[in-house]
Amino acid sequence: MPENRLRFAPSPTGFLHVGGLRTALFNYLFARHTGGRFILRIEDTDQSRKVDGAVENLMESLRWAGLDFDEGPGVEGDFGPYVQSQRLEQYSKYAQQLIDQENAYPCFCTEADLQQMREEQLARKEDTRYDGRCRHLSPDEVSEKLAAGTPHVIRMKIDHNRDAYVVNDLIRGEVRFTPDQIDDQVLVKSDGFPTYHLANVVDDHLMEISHVIRGEEWLPSTPKHIQLYEYFGWEIPEFAHLPLLLNTDRSKLSKRQGDVATEDYKGKGFLPDSLINFVALLGWNTQDDQEIYSMAELIEQFSLERVGKSGAVFDVNKLRWMNQQYIKQKSEEALLELLQPYLPDYTKETAPEQLLKIINIVRDSLITLPDIASRLDLFYNDNPEIEDEALRDQVKSEPYQQVYKGFTSQLEQVDSLTSENFGAIMKAVQKETGIKGKNLWIPIRIAITLVEQGPDLSSVVDVFGKEKCLQMVQRLIDINN
Ligand code: GLU
Repeated sequence: MPENRLRFAPSPTGFLHVGGLRTALFNYLFARHTGGRFILRIEDTDQSRKVDGAVENLMESLRWAGLDFDEGPGVEGDFGPYVQSQRLEQYSKYAQQLIDQENAYPCFCTEADLQQMREEQLARKEDTRYDGRCRHLSPDEVSEKLAAGTPHVIRMKIDHNRDAYVVNDLIRGEVRFTPDQIDDQVLVKSDGFPTYHLANVVDDHLMEISHVIRGEEWLPSTPKHIQLYEYFGWEIPEFAHLPLLLNTDRSKLSKRQGDVATEDYKGKGFLPDSLINFVALLGWNTQDDQEIYSMAELIEQFSLERVGKSGAVFDVNKLRWMNQQYIKQKSEEALLELLQPYLPDYTKETAPEQLLKIINIVRDSLITLPDIASRLDLFYNDNPEIEDEALRDQVKSEPYQQVYKGFTSQLEQVDSLTSENFGAIMKAVQKETGIKGKNLWIPIRIAITLVEQGPDLSSVVDVFGKEKCLQMVQRLIDINN
């Protein structure tokens, strides 16, 4: 068996859409799972959609996500160049072959002609498509127009005599299209550049692509591609069309309802591992309820059989949850490194061991990396406030005040306060006040961490030490006086 060759073939329109990331990932996983090759091909023949820096941006997003390619721009292989704008002579050559074989024809219709055609079809309540009028020009008419330099495109012929075009899709099974559903697709535009359809088929053939895994939105184009393979007499690759990505209200995933660019998630402090894990589960159904997968596990377990047909909901809350799990799993050193860009400047004055202690206290509460700044407030704000109004009242109550007085009087009798002697001190407060259990601990927890549930109290006490703890509790006694 020849090795599988998979390609991700984005059009560089500015950024890597998360749908594109999912397509890239599934191609990558399939290639790695089967010991095949993963190829990046840049489909940049649409001059009107060119955006400066888009290719670099895209490659940077793939690199960040860990999707390394075996062939592509900068990683030249035997099938390059891997950028379509550098392959234009190939497309012209094959377009000419189709014309010579009478499988394609020049079309001289102007934009106005096409507009009028559409309006007439709409008025007759017909589907709008090219009616094939230039197919029927005589050879003389064609030569005359060409000789006069009349602007034209090249269209492929759809075969209206066949019953159906059948796409055998690895995910969807047999999908049938009748010829009347398909347009005589433009293959070469009037500027001489190929359209996606021609360039895509020519390159998939020349690059010996074995499997075309792409988004569902390309399914209606597939019969045209199959027709091109047949005209050229080329072997047709396997097709797999991935289910659409949906917003939580099940509409098509759109910018209006949230971020859709991979770089947005990167910028917001999501980890590549969690974004990849999350995206992998968009349409790929796991066997059990395992949700956390490393890249190695994804590669090992991936199969197209378990990719579903129905739309996959992009639920950012699930991604947030996943990101939190990944942050929790990071080693101290790895997390510290990841947090560097998000640590406020004032943390530079803190001794590294002390900063690490603080980070360890708050790390489990981080959903994304930038959350660190707000979590540090307790440790760096000289006078941090209790935010919850009910708690602000509660600390004034008699039983709380009794605990606070007991705590300060016990603290005054020791030289220092650490997590080691904290328990003994609390015991002494219990003895002194006769208050125990929750009624003893919660007032202290609120005074020192400012919340009822949050970071581990003993660890915070350890970082604060005696003076700061005294001050935190004393200020609550002062409120009442
Ligand atoms: N250039 C197309 C895109 O931007 C590729 C579609 C395909 O994979 O065939 O998505």
